[in-house]
Amino acid sequence: MVESDIKLDENNTFQFTCKLCGNCCKQMLIRLTPFDIINLAGYLDMKTYDFINDYVVFLKTPNVSWLIAALKHVRRGECMFKQGKKCKVHENRPLPCRLFPVGRKENEFLLHKTSYCKGLNSNTNYTLSKWLEESKARPFLEMSQEFYTFMKKISDNYNLDDLDPKREKIFYKLLYDYDSASLESTINLVKPLDKTKFSMRMTEWFLEYTLKVKELSDDDFLIAYEKQALQEEKKLLLQS
Ligand code: SF4
Ligand code: SF4
Repeated sequence: MVESDIKLDENNTFQFTCKLCGNCCKQMLIRLTPFDIINLAGYLDMKTYDFINDYVVFLKTPNVSWLIAALKHVRRGECMFKQGKKCKVHENRPLPCRLFPVGRKENEFLLHKTSYCKGLNSNTNYTLSKWLEESKARPFLEMSQEFYTFMKKISDNYNLDDLDPKREKIFYKLLYDYDSASLESTINLVKPLDKTKFSMRMTEWFLEYTLKVKELSDDDFLIAYEKQALQEEKKLLLQS
């Protein structure tokens, strides 16, 4: 639980040295973007659908009209990747873990003051910029900002509550599960960034497509989907 937040801007400094107590791996809700899921699954040499099955929960949260993905916390209430004092996926840990004790609310950065984090007020000084560099958070941050901007656009333009169960299932599969969205061997993007963009574009395409058809026929849908997916793959390969 966060007891208080202090707004951080480029000029503020804070003192922090992680003591590896692991308390944040028990206390925080770790939200995952599709980029985090692709990175974590790749690091663990798993398909995204297996990764989601083993490590992800989907939750409805206040003020957000879509299901957010978050890491499962099962073993004694702590993250499944915690191994003693270490993080099994440290190199590819998701954005909230990189940023902590810094967090974000809309476009602001905040320093989370919690009694459980033993690393605050220690002797290393950070500016926000130095912290983002040290935690290698910038690419994760950029993709997170792109994802939330995308989802805001989607929720402004479509009523996700109106999707029937079949369409809702496809929507979330396309959004969060790249290896299903890429039809496994048909689309062969390599970079996590391209895979994430592919998932978002195909999700948006699906919503446009699904508005036009009353009955969602599996065969017609797959033919249209594959054609669109190949076009998106081509565009992304040309851009990268
Ligand atoms: S991914 Fe790693 S750093 Fe993040 S909560 Fe899990 S164990 Fe902790
Ligand atoms: S709670 Fe603070 S000190 Fe403990 S592991 Fe997390 S960041 Fe480090």
